[in-house]
Amino acid sequence: MNSPLPPLEAPTQSAMPEAMNPSPDRVYIGFDLGGTKMMAAVFDAEFNILSRRRRKTRGNEGQKAGLERIGETIDLALEEAKVTHDRLAAIGVGCPGPLDLDKGIIFDAPNLGWKNVAIREFLEKRYNSPARIANDVDAGVYGEYSFGAGKGARCVLGVFPGTGIGGGCVYEGKIIRGTKSSCMEIGHVQVLRDGPRCGCGLRGCVEGVASRLAISAAAAAAVYRGQAPKLAALVGTDLKEIRSSALAEAIKEGDTVIEEIIKDACKHIGVAVGAVIHLLSPDVIVLGGGLVEAMPKLFVGEVKDAARKNVMDTYRDTFKVVAAKLGDDATALGAAAWAVASLQPA
Ligand SMILES: [Zn+2]
Repeated sequence: MNSPLPPLEAPTQSAMPEAMNPSPDRVYIGFDLGGTKMMAAVFDAEFNILSRRRRKTRGNEGQKAGLERIGETIDLALEEAKVTHDRLAAIGVGCPGPLDLDKGIIFDAPNLGWKNVAIREFLEKRYNSPARIANDVDAGVYGEYSFGAGKGARCVLGVFPGTGIGGGCVYEGKIIRGTKSSCMEIGHVQVLRDGPRCGCGLRGCVEGVASRLAISAAAAAAVYRGQAPKLAALVGTDLKEIRSSALAEAIKEGDTVIEEIIKDACKHIGVAVGAVIHLLSPDVIVLGGGLVEAMPKLFVGEVKDAARKNVMDTYRDTFKVVAAKLGDDATALGAAAWAVASLQPA
């Protein structure tokens, strides 16, 4: 007889139960940790929402207080849903910044001023339930893939123009990620060789020319030059006031220059999307965020046209461009669903 194989190495025992509570009355927590706001949502086993609780993040109060606040927000959501802790089967958190996805650590969240925050460990100890973290944009895209505009697609690319331009991709049911942290930084795809300096330090990133910040700056200049009378009447030249809704309103009232600024931004986004199409051939491209919500038709149409112009013939009719459907719930919903999927045996 052959000598027996050496015993398999015993799996490292986490202090927490890895197996999910199989009870049909189990619930999941989805958490959206944003720079200014946080939201905890409680979902039942079919991902129907039972409660949601929003609070200010107050990152400046420090990370210890921050973790406590996250816990309190979850407690409030559980209380509102009239759910006891023992029914919790999984917690998913969408987080900003570079992350250690496996260990569940936020390395660095500049918007919050937090460093090396072991959020997964904190939640698993507090709730005796398995927890997972995901990049916030990835969680949002996974939400759209599971329940929203990208449902059932083989490959979903999500693009979210906001203060920056976030990107994420779900490929055959899995979030595409790096070894430790997330990837799909579509905002930093170079679209202008010697373009303006981006916040990341590189030049010509699509984020530098097509984010809400870039659009608002161009719009403020147009107001200053007297080319956008409607926007001038609505908000003036104050960058902080030039929000998505004001831009949309000015276009509706006839500021064609503002419309051209948005179209230019969409052309740049289309170049970056075209690059991803050549690499991954997504069948659905989901556009989301405040700007897209304020003018979905304009964004979807222009980005689609630009992406079609920037790909080889073979790919021209292989994708659709759609607006996101889940709004503010996408990240919490996607984070919870991703945590549950990650806990299923492979
Ligand atoms: Zn950049």
